[in-house]
Amino acid sequence: MRLEGVKLEPYWWEEAPRPQLPVASLPKEIDVAIVGSGYTGLSAALTLARRGRSVIVFEAEDAGFGASSRNGGGVGSAPYKLGFEKTVALFGHDRAVALWKEGVASVDYMADLVSREQIACHFVRSGRFVGAHRPRDYDTLAREVELLRRHTGYEVHMVPRSDQHAEIGSDLYYGGRFNVGDGVVHPALFHQGLLERVLNAGAIVASRTPVTDVERDGPVFRVSTPRGTVRAGDVIVGTNGYTGGAVPWLERRFIPVGSQMIATEPLAPELVGKLLPRGNMVVDTKRTVHYYRASPDGRRILMGGRPLLRDAPWDVAGVELRTFMVKVFPELAGTRITHAWGGRLGFTFDKLPHIGVRDGIHYAGGYLGSGVAMSVWLGRKLGLKVLGDPEGASALDGREFPTMPFYRGKPWFLAAVAAYYRARDAIG
Ligand SMILES: Cc1cc2nc3c(=O)[nH]c(=O)nc-3n(C[C@H](O)[C@H](O)[C@H](O)COP(=O)(O)OP(=O)(O)OC[C@H]3O[C@@H](n4cnc5c(N)ncnc54)[C@H](O)[C@@H]3O)c2cc1C
Repeated sequence: MRLEGVKLEPYWWEEAPRPQLPVASLPKEIDVAIVGSGYTGLSAALTLARRGRSVIVFEAEDAGFGASSRNGGGVGSAPYKLGFEKTVALFGHDRAVALWKEGVASVDYMADLVSREQIACHFVRSGRFVGAHRPRDYDTLAREVELLRRHTGYEVHMVPRSDQHAEIGSDLYYGGRFNVGDGVVHPALFHQGLLERVLNAGAIVASRTPVTDVERDGPVFRVSTPRGTVRAGDVIVGTNGYTGGAVPWLERRFIPVGSQMIATEPLAPELVGKLLPRGNMVVDTKRTVHYYRASPDGRRILMGGRPLLRDAPWDVAGVELRTFMVKVFPELAGTRITHAWGGRLGFTFDKLPHIGVRDGIHYAGGYLGSGVAMSVWLGRKLGLKVLGDPEGASALDGREFPTMPFYRGKPWFLAAVAAYYRARDAIG
């Protein structure tokens, strides 16, 4: 089954279409070459160009083609798939606290950036509701709230089922958690604002110029593209879920995971206000994960998820998303869907984001579907690392970046994982 008559393009592109940049001529030499023009690449580029470095950003498609113009726009402070307790068990108390504090710092940094740079992108710190899919999930969330409050100063509180309608006009959940500091943004307008500032800072953005190879050439790197080769003093890779074979070591470590979204037709603002009183992002505790919010104009519901964990025709994945939307909000049973789209997330085998340098090539990614604030934050850290600025240090530094035997960037195992997740969610 497929959704009929939908536009197969991100809803966000209506207001912020992909920019058609003039064809950039490639310099022979540059201080820093950046691969990928999403938030990671642009945030690194802005940091470096503002500090006087010559910078080129290579993008295989149009600028911002990847997840950075397609995402749900949920700005979250916990980009770790592991809960706090597990993080403590794996890394010890101090490092776990540092990791979680860095999550909060990433949202604070993004808020500051948007306000300092006056980027018009509907950024609001409206909080986030995490709906408990099962009664015992509520208890797990409550236990974590206690720990987060005590050890990290996180502003979070529980919302019992009896008070749930203040957060969401649905009875689907057994209460949930409210993350006070989180927010929402128009992701493509944010990307556009970032891109304009990068260009104004003097960086070159070479769209439709895929990097095919990066190799050492004495003290510099040779960065190859079908349009020519550039010699760069430093190289940064920010390709996350779109990582290909240009740097095979990274291709073996990032797992591309498909996520899809739909947008409803315009609805009465009173109805949207009843269903999502704060317009904020809602996520749930299911393993297959759904996320949804109101559009910035308060007229539509935007629903996302990753039921299949892989790329799927967007109008096919949209059928599952629509079914789930009606389960949450039965009022929307007759509502038409106008847009269906998708993109790729970057997952990792240890369920944590990564930042590091390997053979002189800097990289960051693996945001596990929560990368809006984290990619901007780690992009800046990458820029600072290249500058040798001690502020480039991160609690994520210095860890092994695991892969799996025989894995070469094609995640054959995702179909089985998705089936297992669906079965676990169905058990309740
Ligand atoms: C449908 C969807 C919903 C999401 N919702 C949320 C959300 O609500 N909240 C949240 O926090 N996160 C969300 N995310 C995740 C978030 O969007 C990403 O973590 C973040 O945008 C990653 O930014 P990035 O710059 O690292 O990668 P991307 O924005 O994906 O950019 C990578 C770029 O690299 C380019 N590239 C790849 N290879 C090459 C090459 N060889 N040469 C040149 N260019 C290359 C690609 O074309 C791409 O444009 C969502 C993602 C998707 C897909």
